[in-house]
Amino acid sequence: MEDCIFCKIIKNEIPSQIIYEDENIKAFRDIHPIAPVHILVVPKKHIPSLIELTNEDKEIIGKIYLVINEIAEKENIKEKGFRVIVNCGEDGGQEVKHLHFHLIGGKKLGTKIVS
Ligand code: AMP
Ligand code: ZN
Repeated sequence: MEDCIFCKIIKNEIPSQIIYEDENIKAFRDIHPIAPVHILVVPKKHIPSLIELTNEDKEIIGKIYLVINEIAEKENIKEKGFRVIVNCGEDGGQEVKHLHFHLIGGKKLGTKIVS
């Protein structure tokens, strides 16, 4: 999608710190990290948000969670734990309209995830 910043990152038109890449998925460091580890895991397909998922996306979403586990291990946060967040829509605080999974860890996170 032309104006989508994450599509541009996927096509390497905008630089990013790439953590993982395969045919369908890319992961890169968040530009404004809120924790020592803050990585965005995205499908290469432009899916605008969680509510736009279709049956054909089932496999990719499952794979994203496996990739998250793999990255957590490489980033040494698997043992101590981490958080995965998907913001959806206006009330959910979604700023970038390309589905992405925040992988956050490397410190003890607060217990309140809603504010
Ligand atoms: P959300 O609020 O869930 O839509 O999160 C969007 C995230 O994308 C934010 O945490 C931003 O810091 C991050 N972000 C925006 N632009 C870039 C970029 N060029 N490279 C890496 N992360 C970005
Ligand atoms: Zn996109």
